Amino acid sequence: MKDSYDKKIQLRCVTCGDIDFDFNEDKTWVKCNRCEREYLGGYDELVELNQKNIESELNETREEIKKDLEKDIQDMFKKAFKGNKNIKFK
Ligand SMILES: [Zn+2]
Repeated sequence: MKDSYDKKIQLRCVTCGDIDFDFNEDKTWVKCNRCEREYLGGYDELVELNQKNIESELNETREEIKKDLEKDIQDMFKKAFKGNKNIKFK
């Protein structure tokens, strides 16, 4: 299993899908550099509009962790029962 599953979730412009934004200092205003759409609700609005992406990204991460974990557990069992001929692993 990896030590870190840090994922950067990329916020995207909901209009054009670009990831290049302009922020003001406290991120209460965001503008897409490509289509120039302004998010007057700022960063919060952008996050809210990206909620679906964020969720699917998190689901992917969860799957990834699950797979790694299962592999680890299998390896652990294999090690624990090494030399025991009565137990076979497929
Ligand atoms: Zn845009």
